[in-house]
Amino acid sequence: MQSNEIKNSKPEWTPQNAGEEFTSSVMPGKINSENPSSKPVIKAKNLSIQDYKNGVLAGDKTILARAITLIESNSTKHLDIAQELIKEILPYTGKSIRIGITGVPGAGKSTFIETFGLYLIDNNYRPAVLAIDPSSTVSKGSILGDKTRMEQLSRNDQAFIRPSPSAGNLGGVTRKTRETMLLCEAAGYDVILIETVGVGQNEVTVRSMVDFFLLILISGAGDELQGIKKGVIELADAILVNKADGDNIIHAETAKAQYNNALHYLSNATPGWTTKAYTCSAVENKGIDNIWSVINDFVEYTKSKEIFTDRRIHQTRQWFESMLNNEILNSFYRNPYIKEKLFQITEDIKFNEITAVSAVKKMIDLYKSEVLHK
Ligand code: GDP
Repeated sequence: MQSNEIKNSKPEWTPQNAGEEFTSSVMPGKINSENPSSKPVIKAKNLSIQDYKNGVLAGDKTILARAITLIESNSTKHLDIAQELIKEILPYTGKSIRIGITGVPGAGKSTFIETFGLYLIDNNYRPAVLAIDPSSTVSKGSILGDKTRMEQLSRNDQAFIRPSPSAGNLGGVTRKTRETMLLCEAAGYDVILIETVGVGQNEVTVRSMVDFFLLILISGAGDELQGIKKGVIELADAILVNKADGDNIIHAETAKAQYNNALHYLSNATPGWTTKAYTCSAVENKGIDNIWSVINDFVEYTKSKEIFTDRRIHQTRQWFESMLNNEILNSFYRNPYIKEKLFQITEDIKFNEITAVSAVKKMIDLYKSEVLHK
């Protein structure tokens, strides 16, 4: 008998201790009515690279989502297909404005993205939102896995929202987010919003893949700069003090003035562009049009000075270099022979039988003679 139950299962790349945030619904197969004794018809067929390409270029959201899942997979089989697909769609990418959005939890990032995304749709843009949440391995997805986030935007046909898997190292997350961004561009999304929780290293990573970087802050008691690292402010092309509504307007305006003052003493993220602070209310939809016009001024300015293209070329080079570094490290550390030798030599170092410097030289010599030249 056929079961009509919808089964929940998890993709193969799901981290071992993950909760339900990675669960996908598996629909039951359909009984062939002419021959009920035959096996259920499996609906989702394997797609060829050409199928993926055509679907993505046609803006088919289901195929886009499947293509992203392919990119997120850690299996080598999928990696090859995914890379082939990226190569195929590359000529159709690059036409969007790429915006990074960061801020501490609670600053109002998702509320802002919802309001901003709907504003963009009203102005005939198609936004795609990619959320990087490296903290979800700790919080089990509660920060970005919350289904109530961006409710209206996620239901809108013109928008696409996708959380990035946090499994694996930052290098893996970077590659996956970058490639997801390219797929979204090929599918016709023209404003890409990459959201990250402001907890440290991620901002630098996001900065390295976007044109414009927006820092969302809120006013707080005491020193306005408290808790936000100077380094993060120096990555920003604009600071947006959110929640400028009700009784809080005055605090938000004060915070804006203080940030503007502090910005005089910091370096700019983009040559020739003065980073300024602005206020907005994501809830009351105020200041949203203003920040969009700032972003447009920025794009116009950077394009006129070739900064826009230079930055993208530089970012692609950086991306290549970081992937190459990862590959080299992997090919070294994952080699069984090297693993064994590393274990031995670490013991030798512990018992002062070899110095650290000589140990490095020995490992490299062994790698060259026993792995590379074998
Ligand atoms: P995130 O963690 O940065 O994504 O923050 P959320 O968007 O989830 O917002 C955190 C809280 O702040 C929620 O309770 C929001 O309703 C509230 N919030 C967000 N934007 C505004 C705003 O413009 N004004 C006010 N008063 N509250 C806001």
